[in-house]
Amino acid sequence: MSEPFRAILVSKTDDGQKVEFVRLTEADLMEGNVTIDVAHSSVNYKDGLAITGKGPIIRRWPLIPGIDLAGTVRSSMHPDWKPGDKVVLGGWGVGEGHYGGFSEVARVNGDWLVPLPEGYTTADAMAVGVAGYTAMLCVMALEEQGVVPSQGEVLVTGAAGGVGSTAVAILSKLGFNVVAATGRPEEEAFLKSLGATSIIDRKELQGPVKPLAKARWAGVVDTVGSVMLANAISQVLPEGAVAATGLAGGMDLPTSVAPFILRGVKLVGVNSVSTPQPRRIACWKRIARDLDKSKLTALTTHVKLDDVPRVAADIVAGKIRGRVVVDVRG
Ligand code: NDP
Repeated sequence: MSEPFRAILVSKTDDGQKVEFVRLTEADLMEGNVTIDVAHSSVNYKDGLAITGKGPIIRRWPLIPGIDLAGTVRSSMHPDWKPGDKVVLGGWGVGEGHYGGFSEVARVNGDWLVPLPEGYTTADAMAVGVAGYTAMLCVMALEEQGVVPSQGEVLVTGAAGGVGSTAVAILSKLGFNVVAATGRPEEEAFLKSLGATSIIDRKELQGPVKPLAKARWAGVVDTVGSVMLANAISQVLPEGAVAATGLAGGMDLPTSVAPFILRGVKLVGVNSVSTPQPRRIACWKRIARDLDKSKLTALTTHVKLDDVPRVAADIVAGKIRGRVVVDVRG
């Protein structure tokens, strides 16, 4: 039998759910053909919803949460992976329906893994994590719709959060004029250090939604949804595009067809969970090229596994700045 290892386990109870730290062995893990010594994970908004029970994320009980992880292959029955390989995983239902990254050991399907990008440590990869990877997918989506820096400003909503702050850093490196919408004016210096050219108070995007408002944005990366997304859509320049990926402000979308049929605005949905593998690998290559390591470091804090429940509550409350890496064995 393998040595016991630590993990966070969320179980269903009569009153809701309970979160506990447990010691497991390999025999307790779910099916998979690659076993990984997890070095790092990260806390994403979805993990916050899963651990606090504030959103229906968990689809299998009990569950080890953690939608991303990076580490070293311990054993493998998969042709692409061998012991010692450094790997990264995000999405594919890990931390939702399959045991996830808040565990010192994980067993997963080898098809879900990508190699650790060159020049990256496992901690760097989790500083990016699902949130940063999604930010890159959003930027790629805008580029695919023809959005280029010369067309005008790009808006990022939820800018001080994980997806938002990484999107600010990437867009600024690519030469875009980035306007960061935040509810935390105290984060202005932080957002400007990542490359935002200006900041707007998110309240400006939380008023009544007009079918068409004064057009300002060549592109938008939206992590908030609901009224903020609807207002942002109504302010997009003709032929501009919006990448919608989040629901931190709500799942509804109180918009009209006006921006789409009168300005040719494109609304592109971005889903990181089941991105096909070739696009995943292309996305990680873009991250390695277009996200400054110094900015990645500046937007990242590190915590231990013991801190995860507290950070989970904070992320759902909108109190987390940038990205939080979990030093799983720290
Ligand atoms: P964070 O909590 O780190 O960031 C969310 C940000 O949204 C907050 O920092 C805050 O920014 C803003 N915000 C929070 N609550 C509200 C509110 N009530 N009204 C308006 N703004 C609010 O989360 P992540 O960056 O990890 O994730 C952001 C969103 O993207 C989440 O909804 C997440 O589920 C989604 N997501 C989706 C993915 C996909 O595959 N579709 C993948 C990854 C993330 P500020 O303080 O600057 O205003």
